[in-house]
Amino acid sequence: MAIREAVIAIDFDGTVVTHAYPEVGDDIGAVPVLKELVAQGDKLILWTMRSGRLLEDAVAWFRKHDIPLWAINENPTQGGWTTSPKVHANLIIDDSALGCPTCFLDGERRPAANWQRIREMLVRMGYLD
Ligand SMILES: [Mg+2]
Repeated sequence: MAIREAVIAIDFDGTVVTHAYPEVGDDIGAVPVLKELVAQGDKLILWTMRSGRLLEDAVAWFRKHDIPLWAINENPTQGGWTTSPKVHANLIIDDSALGCPTCFLDGERRPAANWQRIREMLVRMGYLD
């Protein structure tokens, strides 16, 4: 039985899509894994440096793929116990994080998140069955 109702902060560029900032990158396999997490009750926080129109583009990506976001660049429940801007999350998925599995795709200069391996890690860590 997987951990349920986890708060998961997720980066955008290089994590759910290839690196193409300020454009929106290509699909790299995040969609089915994110849908699995949301379907079991996990809450996704979009955790990104994007702002303004570029942030709207990222939010639109989630909407297009029917992946609901619980919050954007904040955890709406932490204001009662901290004024820190760091988002409280049970898990943070970010291609820049040490330990995040990444891979180089054809023609890419920077590695992007490897969602096959991320899913395997989520199972090992108890976040997915
Ligand atoms: Mg990134």
